[in-house]
Amino acid sequence: MTTLINPADGRPVAEIPDTRAEKVAAVVQTAREAFEQWRDATPGERARVLLRLADLVEGDAEELTRLEVEETGKPAAVFRDGELPFAIDNLRFFAGAARSLEGTGAGVLSKGYTSVLVRRPIGVVGSISPWNFPFIMAVWKAGPALAAGNAVVIKPAPRTPRTTLRLAELFAAAGAPDGLLQVVTGGADVGQALVTDPGVDMVSVTGSTETGRAVMRGAVDGLKRVHLELGGKAPALVFADAALEDMAAGVVMGATYNTGQDCTAATRVYIDRSRYGEAVEALRDALSRVRPGDPWEPGSDIGPLISAAHRDRVDGFVRRASGRVVWGGTPIDGPGFYYAPTLIADADQSSEIVQAEIFGPVLVAVPFDGEDEAVRLANDTPYGLASSVWSADVSRALRVSHRLDVGVTWVNDHLPIASEAPHGGVKGSGFGKDMSQEAVQEYSVTRHLMIKHAAPQARDSFRPA
Ligand code: NAD
Repeated sequence: MTTLINPADGRPVAEIPDTRAEKVAAVVQTAREAFEQWRDATPGERARVLLRLADLVEGDAEELTRLEVEETGKPAAVFRDGELPFAIDNLRFFAGAARSLEGTGAGVLSKGYTSVLVRRPIGVVGSISPWNFPFIMAVWKAGPALAAGNAVVIKPAPRTPRTTLRLAELFAAAGAPDGLLQVVTGGADVGQALVTDPGVDMVSVTGSTETGRAVMRGAVDGLKRVHLELGGKAPALVFADAALEDMAAGVVMGATYNTGQDCTAATRVYIDRSRYGEAVEALRDALSRVRPGDPWEPGSDIGPLISAAHRDRVDGFVRRASGRVVWGGTPIDGPGFYYAPTLIADADQSSEIVQAEIFGPVLVAVPFDGEDEAVRLANDTPYGLASSVWSADVSRALRVSHRLDVGVTWVNDHLPIASEAPHGGVKGSGFGKDMSQEAVQEYSVTRHLMIKHAAPQARDSFRPA
């Protein structure tokens, strides 16, 4: 049994029974049976169920908001008016993508033979999600896999399972075969039971880089496909010609959204030395306007961190940090696990505060001299997920962004995403794309059907062309 705690006041909100690890095999078996039906559904049939799901999610907005806000502490308006409509848009996109899976080419590639390429689903996908965006992550995991014709067993993070459980209920109500989307609850042991179960054909995880390694190791014996969306430590590169006020507003939003508990959060601001002092001041001013507060108060910009332990962890990073604290730097007194939005200037590139993923509302500023140094510093962490470049010179912004080892670069902004655009990283941030047609492709395989159309005596084409 896991007791869910409201991070905004530290009080228990619900008790959720954990799935026993030995039970996972039976869940996977049911998923396999559901897969046999869903595999043969037409793209149009799959799309209709996903579109009905999107409508049901829309109709359930109040309940989903209550559950998500109670477990994460994020501002209700941020979820109800931002993340939830986005997740609904994702579902509608995946419904459309189900009908346009590529790979349906055909041709005479070898004399006497007609080749047909078809995309087929993989089977049962075991998905594991984190606590920072529980509902969106469940949609990003289940949506493309279901659109491609797979069955999904998903394990949400132990602190935040209820919106994922609700998604599965709504999916069943949308007319999906029984057992096509199932949820198992619990921690790493249940996650490993899913990853290693022989009935699971592919595993997909969003979580820390360490968890990605553990999942990949667990998938080795079964030679399973893995899809890994892991940690991040996004740089923002600020050039001398950047509009500093806009930059400060955008970078601070990027650093504090979801209280910085975001794999794409702006965490390291590298600033051209000629404007370093001014830029640090602009960042401090923008940070001073961010209002942490009760998630149900309309004026709250950010909520608490997820737990007391995580707040201590974030505080530990700040206490050990190189450089000087320009703003914040302490927990906020009172009930709940709040932490002050924090800016640390003059941090040392090789130090922990610059290199490690903090997952809190903490921004570090470092000066640079010239484009080459900016690029070198930006690429100098184990991660490679997101980044932004701030400059009035489009050519420079493009030139620099092509040199960054990351999955996404924003120019003069930081964070926006779209259902059509793939999201995913390189290096320690993993591989595999969420959202977009690419995600649907990843949950499917190409099969080649080669059909002999030549008369029986024409056998030349057995030789390689
Ligand atoms: P976490 O790695 O602790 O847990 C993620 C999930 O994995 C949870 O469901 C957890 O129970 C499960 N898990 C943990 N150890 C496991 C194991 N050995 N085997 C199987 N399952 C295991 O991460 P978290 O603290 O929940 O989330 C924060 C992390 O997620 C951060 O590192 C963040 O950057 C990352 N994240 C990445 C993206 C992305 O798209 N790249 C998006 C959101 C979050």
